[in-house]
Amino acid sequence: MADANEPVTRSNEDNSSPDVVIPADTHETVETAPIQDPPSGASSDNPTTVENPTPQPDSSVPPADILQPLPPQLPRWMNPTPKLHVPERSDYSHLEFNWKVNPASYLTPMDNTFVDYNILLDGHSHTTFSDGRMKPEQLLQWAIANGYNAIVVSDHNTIEGALEAQKIANEKYNNQITVIPGMEYRIHMQFIGIQSNPFGPFNKPYPTNEELKNMIDQVHEMGGLVTVNHIPWSNKTEWRYHDPTLPNHPTRDELYEMGVDGFEIINGNVFDFETYVFAKKHQSLAISGSDVHHPSEGAYAWTLLKAANRTVEGIMSALKGKATSFLFDATGTRPRYYPADNKEYLALLPITALANVFASFYDDYRGMYSFQVMRKVVKFMYARYKKFRNDRRGHWRRLDADEQNPYNREYYTDMDVIDMEP
Ligand SMILES: [Zn+2]
Ligand SMILES: [Zn+2]
Repeated sequence: MADANEPVTRSNEDNSSPDVVIPADTHETVETAPIQDPPSGASSDNPTTVENPTPQPDSSVPPADILQPLPPQLPRWMNPTPKLHVPERSDYSHLEFNWKVNPASYLTPMDNTFVDYNILLDGHSHTTFSDGRMKPEQLLQWAIANGYNAIVVSDHNTIEGALEAQKIANEKYNNQITVIPGMEYRIHMQFIGIQSNPFGPFNKPYPTNEELKNMIDQVHEMGGLVTVNHIPWSNKTEWRYHDPTLPNHPTRDELYEMGVDGFEIINGNVFDFETYVFAKKHQSLAISGSDVHHPSEGAYAWTLLKAANRTVEGIMSALKGKATSFLFDATGTRPRYYPADNKEYLALLPITALANVFASFYDDYRGMYSFQVMRKVVKFMYARYKKFRNDRRGHWRRLDADEQNPYNREYYTDMDVIDMEP
């Protein structure tokens, strides 16, 4: 389920690549390698090009061909990267999915005339290559147990997990499941059916519509499809915060204009009826995704397709035909596997808890240590004070959007908000 797990994702994706420092007197375009290894999924041959806007002729500067790029790494003694083994809370090493659900045995297709299908697809899933807890093979076993015969493996910002899953499926599970490689990127767009990651490191949380459109075009050139995941999760706001989870998320209309092929209309057990209606109206591809991150999660939706055969090409061409229906079980599949507690974790709990306190001083957003915790404490106390004050005066919390917030695009343009403040 996205709600429980995606906040981890956000910080994962906000990895800024380090600023590249260029000597002030450089007057040529210089290519410098990033100082650190880029996040996984980024190709290392992706240098940052920086141009000095004001060329200054200076005879003391050596010609460009003998200018050396900055050293790719600090000296080892200045750059200690201790490989600490922090144990996980649960033991994920021996997962067992020894059941097989047949969803068609107890569910009716959403479009009940859609009975001639041969593909039950999970359109969205994660492995340990991003923030999932299952290795690619374990994910395949989870999917087979839950009645899928095809799966889009779509880790955040990397395609490596998907490619490994595809390799394992071809070697060991060919008669049971087909893997479509994919990737979840930027505003949680889903690239389906690509074989490599054409994009650089994820370093800009809020891309412009133009940047998104360029990406969509590029994926299309590679023969892939672009859908947009979990719009309800991306746009939801939380108590006391008016910011959507993904600020500046384009509207469905804008996404359609940009050329996306479709939308995820069921994410986990959340059926996004409005997006489903939108997709129907525009003849866009409607797809469902478990967005599974953890082995204890069940399956809720199966995208039904009629494909010529159960190959990547067969399934991709069925998706491009955009004729889908769904099986949907709001309760989710009953059999679940709950991983055992990790004894190592429990033994180290006091130390881990202490380490977590210190780790919380690290501000993912800016990639530096800060007193974020103190800031949070002050904000929390201030919010308590305001609540106390408002309760005493009998005020209601304002439900309307914060007009001062530049990121607050009016997503639900037709929403009437009643001002409840007296
Ligand atoms: Zn997502
Ligand atoms: Zn996801």
